[in-house]
Amino acid sequence: MPDFRGDKDGFWKKNSPVHFSEFKTSKKARLKSWENNIAIQNKIQKAKPTKMHKMINEILKFDGLNFHITQNIDGLHNDKNIDSEKIIELHGSIFQAECLSCKKSFNTKSFYESIVKTKGDSLCPVCNSGFVKVGTISFGQNLNHSVLNQAKFAAENCDYLIAVGSSLKVSPANSFIRIAKKNGAQIVILNYDPTPFDSEASIIINEYLEKICDEIT
Ligand SMILES: [Zn+2]
Repeated sequence: MPDFRGDKDGFWKKNSPVHFSEFKTSKKARLKSWENNIAIQNKIQKAKPTKMHKMINEILKFDGLNFHITQNIDGLHNDKNIDSEKIIELHGSIFQAECLSCKKSFNTKSFYESIVKTKGDSLCPVCNSGFVKVGTISFGQNLNHSVLNQAKFAAENCDYLIAVGSSLKVSPANSFIRIAKKNGAQIVILNYDPTPFDSEASIIINEYLEKICDEIT
């Protein structure tokens, strides 16, 4: 998957993101936000889970409290054989939409089709007072509290925290390293480039994830 923040071909270089405050106040911004999300969804539908996604899901099948905390919104980590409570999506999912007021959820594609058909707004058809927004966290929007608490619980109670394919430059995802370490966990970092948290880790492997998977299996 492309890195949405990437330097050269990052999605947000070509498609300007909509700030959460604009989403709430401007119809034009809401439509732009929906268009961006549908464009991302169309890109994602061509992508397939990698070897690392599959390996992580194998680990999640083991007994015990194993969780996958992810910043990814692409759903490639989801697997019908994995209890969805074990996957903690910090930045939400591109495949769900929710009314900001009554919290009713909608299928993103069919909701977008109805907006296009009626040339309307993303007003919620249930409560008629809130706007429906794709479930990904926008710039300027707070992360979901209960999702954050689930991730914190996982970090506080783990024996091992394995950080996979992350620059560990984005907060709060990187804060879970310190939380886990403080609670006695061993830290393992698998990433092509060094990270600012390398000094916290017991094991660091700087290599392509695909290659790491090949070496392990
Ligand atoms: Zn509503």
